[in-house]
Amino acid sequence: MGLPLDDARAVLKDRFGYDDFRPGQEHVIEAILRGQDALAIMPTGAGKSVCYQVPAVLMGGLTIVVSPLISLMDDQVRSLREVGIRGSYFNSTLKPRVRPEVLRRAAAGRYDLMYVAPERLTDPMFREFAAGIHIPLFAVDEAHCVSQWGQDFRPAYRQIASFVDFLPKRPVVAALTATATNRVRRDVEEFLALRNPLVQISGFDRPNLRLATHKLTPAQRKKWLVSYVRRHAGESGIVYAMTRKRVEELCDTLLDEGYAAACYHGGMPNDQRADAQARFATDDVQVMVATNAFGMGIDKSNVRYVVNDGLPLSLEEYYQEAGRAGRDGEPAECHLLWSQGDIRTAHFLIERNELPADADPSAHDQLLESRNRLLGDMIGYAMSSYCLRRRILRHFGQSLVGVPENCETCSVCGWEEERKANVVGSFDPDEEYAAHGRMSRKTSRLTQGSPDTAGQKTAVPSGEASLADEELFARLRSLRKRLAQERGLPAYMVFSDATLRSMVRLRPRTKDQMLEVSGVGAKKLETYGEEFLHEIWPE
Ligand code: ADP
Repeated sequence: MGLPLDDARAVLKDRFGYDDFRPGQEHVIEAILRGQDALAIMPTGAGKSVCYQVPAVLMGGLTIVVSPLISLMDDQVRSLREVGIRGSYFNSTLKPRVRPEVLRRAAAGRYDLMYVAPERLTDPMFREFAAGIHIPLFAVDEAHCVSQWGQDFRPAYRQIASFVDFLPKRPVVAALTATATNRVRRDVEEFLALRNPLVQISGFDRPNLRLATHKLTPAQRKKWLVSYVRRHAGESGIVYAMTRKRVEELCDTLLDEGYAAACYHGGMPNDQRADAQARFATDDVQVMVATNAFGMGIDKSNVRYVVNDGLPLSLEEYYQEAGRAGRDGEPAECHLLWSQGDIRTAHFLIERNELPADADPSAHDQLLESRNRLLGDMIGYAMSSYCLRRRILRHFGQSLVGVPENCETCSVCGWEEERKANVVGSFDPDEEYAAHGRMSRKTSRLTQGSPDTAGQKTAVPSGEASLADEELFARLRSLRKRLAQERGLPAYMVFSDATLRSMVRLRPRTKDQMLEVSGVGAKKLETYGEEFLHEIWPE
């Protein structure tokens, strides 16, 4: 046996195929393996799951993960199985007659980890089961749900601490969230009764993201959007709008202009939503126009821009959405388009938001006050004359040490192109083109016969990849698509874009070399290695 962290690194490599932990991950994992509680505050996509999945493999027994997102559990478990981790879940989507069987298997040591919804913690069948097994680690995902000061208060989260107390032996408790305002953090520590936790706040700085705000009327935004998408033809992007109606309106506008757009919102039938998401994942669709229903659990790394049409209700929500851009680390842009009218709409949405059914009605005023405060921070960002990047870091409690006074990558700090467009009411897309010496609207139009806009979108992140690289990347992507279809999996579960890019760079010839690729672990090598090697080096 090596040091605990060496073992953890070995699991990371063997199962997930990653060479190194990301900043923050190893501190959290080290604490957990040492037996210390932990609170990990990291933005979406930073890799929180690994913080409990790796220890789950190493600690024996059954790690319990509380998560509010029942609809994602099936996918999470399938992803884990793809990398050879024995996951399971226990929630209301399981047929009642299957439930005892799942628990029986878990008790027999067949799983490393089990996802449960917080409501399960009061279920007598589950409690009896949990009291009789070894639970080394209890992980609370989306831990901010315990706080009324967060955006997604879930009263059932308040039962977690007493459940942990009820267990014969107290497990290590790890709380994970992307929300880090001080109030929420204090609530998480208090209501989950964390004991002397290691608090890890990290990863909120995303230097590859350019941030911009634009005060524009809804009509101006439409023009802005069309011209923006035109300038970014061939790149993958997401447009968030506040209402289903607006989503459809913007999507229609883009389709009318000849762009491969699709829409996604809660009012669409499941199969249509799944279809839109799949076409976006495989780059058949270039722009996804969506409400905030779109995005949870999406791991598309080559999204080059996120445009928000209207104000999200909190900076947490905004940064979560904007943060879906540029996960591959290549430059990406996040634009917030807003106007005074959005503030009214946001207040309306907050007033209309119903209280959770089991919440104390007297909490209503307090809840309203906290939602208004969250919105206030969002409005502050939209109107900010202070560096947007620093503002975000300050909001999320991350140190500003090392962040330059003038970041040069936000519209306040003079990211030139954006400052021009940020003048109230004066925006004219054509003028902007002229001002920046770019193509005029017409010639833009004429040069759009390039392969990038012909339907097959191949975004070149750095602009440096050679044609041969792009050709190979495209072939690997279609292979991924075929294998995913055959296995009934979403494409990203086979390999992420970042992993395919890494294959293109390394062009492995042997299975050993294939294991050098970031994102290829032992199980995936066994499942997919041959076919990808063959695609890279056909006979
Ligand atoms: P979060 O739960 O914080 O939103 P995830 O756990 O879903 O983030 O991780 C986001 C992506 O980053 C996933 O594709 C995951 O496999 C990848 N990832 C996590 N840790 C690492 C690492 N150490 N090296 C490379 N990729 C990683």
